[in-house]
Amino acid sequence: MRAYHYKFLNRPYPCTLKLRLKNDVRLVREYKICDWCLRRLIKEPSNKALTEAESFRSSCSLCHSIPFRGEIVDEALVACSPYSFRTYNVSVRMDASVLKIEDEIIAKYKLVNYITLKKGLRDHLKRALAKVLNQRLQEVRPELNIVFDFSDKFRVKIYERAYQIRINYIKFLPDSKINANLCKACNGRGCNECKYTGKANDGSLESFFIYALPTILNSTIPRITWALKDIEGSTVSGNGSPIYLHFRSIYDRIRAPLIVPENPVHGIKFILSQSLESTESMIRDFTMTIKMVLKLNVPLSEEEIRKRIGKGTITLTGVEGKIWKKNVKILKVSILNNLAELYIEMDSGINVYSWIGLRKAPSAKSVEPALFFEDEVSLVKIDVLDVRDRCIKGELVNLPNQAK
Ligand SMILES: [Zn+2]
Ligand SMILES: [Zn+2]
Repeated sequence: MRAYHYKFLNRPYPCTLKLRLKNDVRLVREYKICDWCLRRLIKEPSNKALTEAESFRSSCSLCHSIPFRGEIVDEALVACSPYSFRTYNVSVRMDASVLKIEDEIIAKYKLVNYITLKKGLRDHLKRALAKVLNQRLQEVRPELNIVFDFSDKFRVKIYERAYQIRINYIKFLPDSKINANLCKACNGRGCNECKYTGKANDGSLESFFIYALPTILNSTIPRITWALKDIEGSTVSGNGSPIYLHFRSIYDRIRAPLIVPENPVHGIKFILSQSLESTESMIRDFTMTIKMVLKLNVPLSEEEIRKRIGKGTITLTGVEGKIWKKNVKILKVSILNNLAELYIEMDSGINVYSWIGLRKAPSAKSVEPALFFEDEVSLVKIDVLDVRDRCIKGELVNLPNQAK
């Protein structure tokens, strides 16, 4: 009696045994649906209806027999075979007209507690793939999204989550080339020869990322974010200067950080290569420690140099008067004859050459106040000793021993 009431309350369609039989058989006959579809639409279909529905397995008007076609899963396996990945998710796309027929059935037969075609297929394909893939199903931020598109001609489409690698490089030769020249064929506008990057294949680190690395990683050409602009003529040591590579598509995503070569171009060594979970870590600010040796063309004392740095606030003014405040801190100054050795900690984004008064900043940007007046000093040597993520506290303070 309780069971009867339960059913009665939950099912708006007539619930006596005789009527129910009639109803589900009528549904099968009217819409020519298979037993798989019948089971997800009606909780306990009658045997008579099920037997009739079985005859529509190869011609079901709703599911187009997808649950009975093994080759669909095989196609998905082929589509994801080029990738190495850890996590995936499954989506299903259906033609609107099929979904409309289903809505019509649901309304006409006043169905409740049914599983929709889309959800039913998705669950079915998820289970089928779980049997043959060793990777983990993950709904949020999967590496691959396997889309079964039944809306037109059946196709499996793979959507990849973008992939980031962080690389730290050290530069032990001051004349190692970091940035690529413009492509000669198109003068930077982008052409077939430069793969539409506008950059030449000239043996620089940047050209290594554009021309050599995609072949090694089986990837698209990465978008490159430099944590620091290269300081021309400097060396870079310590933990190295970070670069972020952003790939739209990459086949070898699991091994990628391991197969990045250590010595990409002459004078440059990668000391770190790791994959990143998100792009958040790419927008950090950095602090670097630099060591400069300057030739003094006029006599300058240690005190004078310290006084000029003062509180260490530098103002950068960009286009349309946009202003950035940056910090510099002097760690050590020593003067011997006409040579000055400076250890400085500074925020990223400051054009060092403009700041020490050796070169004008690019026209759109000014750096004030400059440390030296024109011709007061000339640069002998500049080294980036260390680059640190500003938000990582208490790590990587590799200051030289003599610095305080
Ligand atoms: Zn069906
Ligand atoms: Zn070009």
